[in-house]
Amino acid sequence: MQGLMMDYPLTMDRILEHANALHPHKRISTKLPDGSFHRYTYADLYRRVKKLANVLGSLGVGIGDRVGTFSWNNYQHLELYYAVPCSGAVCHTLNIRLFPDQLAYIINHAEDRVVFVDATLLPALEQVVDQIGCVEHFVLFNANGEIETRLPNISFYEDLMAEAEAIFDWVVDDENMAMGLCYTSGTTGEPKGALYSHRSMFLHTMGENQANALALVESDVVLPVVPQFHAMAWGLPYACAMAGSEMVMPGPHLQPQALADMIAEEQVTIPAGVPTIWMGLYRELKANPRDISCIRSLVVGGSAMPRTLIEAYEKELHVPVLHAWGMTEISPLGTVCRLQRAHQGLSEAEKWDVQARQGYPIAGVEMRIVDDAGEVLPWDGETMGEVQVRGPWIVRAYFKQDPLPEHFTPDGWFRTGDVATMSPEGYMAIMDRTKDLVKSGGEWISSVELENALMAHSSVMEAAVIAIPDEKWGERPLGVVVLAPDADAVNSEGLVEYLAPQFAKFWLPERIVLVDELPKTSVGKFDKKVLRQQHAEGNLG
Ligand code: AMP
Repeated sequence: MQGLMMDYPLTMDRILEHANALHPHKRISTKLPDGSFHRYTYADLYRRVKKLANVLGSLGVGIGDRVGTFSWNNYQHLELYYAVPCSGAVCHTLNIRLFPDQLAYIINHAEDRVVFVDATLLPALEQVVDQIGCVEHFVLFNANGEIETRLPNISFYEDLMAEAEAIFDWVVDDENMAMGLCYTSGTTGEPKGALYSHRSMFLHTMGENQANALALVESDVVLPVVPQFHAMAWGLPYACAMAGSEMVMPGPHLQPQALADMIAEEQVTIPAGVPTIWMGLYRELKANPRDISCIRSLVVGGSAMPRTLIEAYEKELHVPVLHAWGMTEISPLGTVCRLQRAHQGLSEAEKWDVQARQGYPIAGVEMRIVDDAGEVLPWDGETMGEVQVRGPWIVRAYFKQDPLPEHFTPDGWFRTGDVATMSPEGYMAIMDRTKDLVKSGGEWISSVELENALMAHSSVMEAAVIAIPDEKWGERPLGVVVLAPDADAVNSEGLVEYLAPQFAKFWLPERIVLVDELPKTSVGKFDKKVLRQQHAEGNLG
């Protein structure tokens, strides 16, 4: 027997309609390139999204066409986040920090017909203009007619908007239609596209706003430092609209000082970004304190938040930290680390130990850990296995690629490539990427645990641990460390001695190399592929 409930398509225009009906006066503020603020409301956003939907039609964008965006976080990018999917097309967010070849590859792979460009980023796109013949129009914003560019067929955003009507009937009635396309940052192989549907993003938005997840509310002011070109800014532009939260878009102003000012002046309650951003902000706040008591939750994900930094924020700055884990392929939110009733009796130090874990899967994400043979492993807090997930906002194939066994299991789970333990209460602790684990004499060593321990040393600012080839053991860990400015002198032996009481002997790196800077990927993570190339000779011969 079938249920008798309405068949109500879960589409992005419903989220926008909700925000316009319930929260028309709530503010969206953007810090413009010149440092001033552009401010408007959800009602303004709504009206301009309708205009933009008409602009897309006038450019010949049809149902299912891909529209690229090349921009910082700002109100124009937000308008594209809604207008593109709500007019039936697919919003393809381009990572502004990609190498030119990768950028050209992605634009061609997606077959973007139009690209909307923040004019402050023109040089990066101009580098690839001769390689992206699929693009018929470039639309520039944050620019006026005097700008000089090599891009052909350009028009100006505000000119097009001025001519467009603010009446548009939403066209998407099938919730399974594609709405967004995001390529993985791809430190190995070619980038792969995750193609979100209206339904998957709608459900992700509800999942993200659960009380046990990020739980945005109407009184929040959210600062997405996480770029809109990275995993849909963690879904925050949709989650804010559903909750009625105000938004502060930082534009190109991502330096610690600018972020600290923005948080204090705009009374931000939820800033969200990767650990390197919060490392910089912490230093800034220590050097030049501000009143940031407005923050109710500092959301951090994208790579592991070092326990020492969680402690520093909570103990010294009284800022509650919310550690989360996700992937482009999971839309992206997968787990959140909130303490539960069972943790009430813990000491502060024990609580920070828990918060350094990536947390429990939010409802809607099913999770298991498995061994190399595909056997499901116990949740005992010790056994390490590959994390596999399934659920309504998780990819079932990559764009233009048949599902491969290295990405998907025969029984329908997505293989994340992360290795973790699960505690009996369901708290995941990421140990590594499968490809970053160190296998020494047949035993696994977690690079993440060694990195966390190194970063807890008062003289260490950043630490990465990689596997290097070794004649005797197959692989051995190598630490690569950046010392903090003005740090007490410490050398390789001193750091190994410091690690010694905390780990089994075979886990200890023989050597720790001190460097001025660690290579980072386009989304700010340590680039271990480059580090492995730099130390490829290892301990051979
Ligand atoms: P991306 O798709 O670029 O966001 O990268 C996803 C990957 O980032 C995951 O598979 C993890 O390896 C890593 N990651 C994300 N969040 C965390 C976290 N909180 N702790 C450790 N690793 C993380």
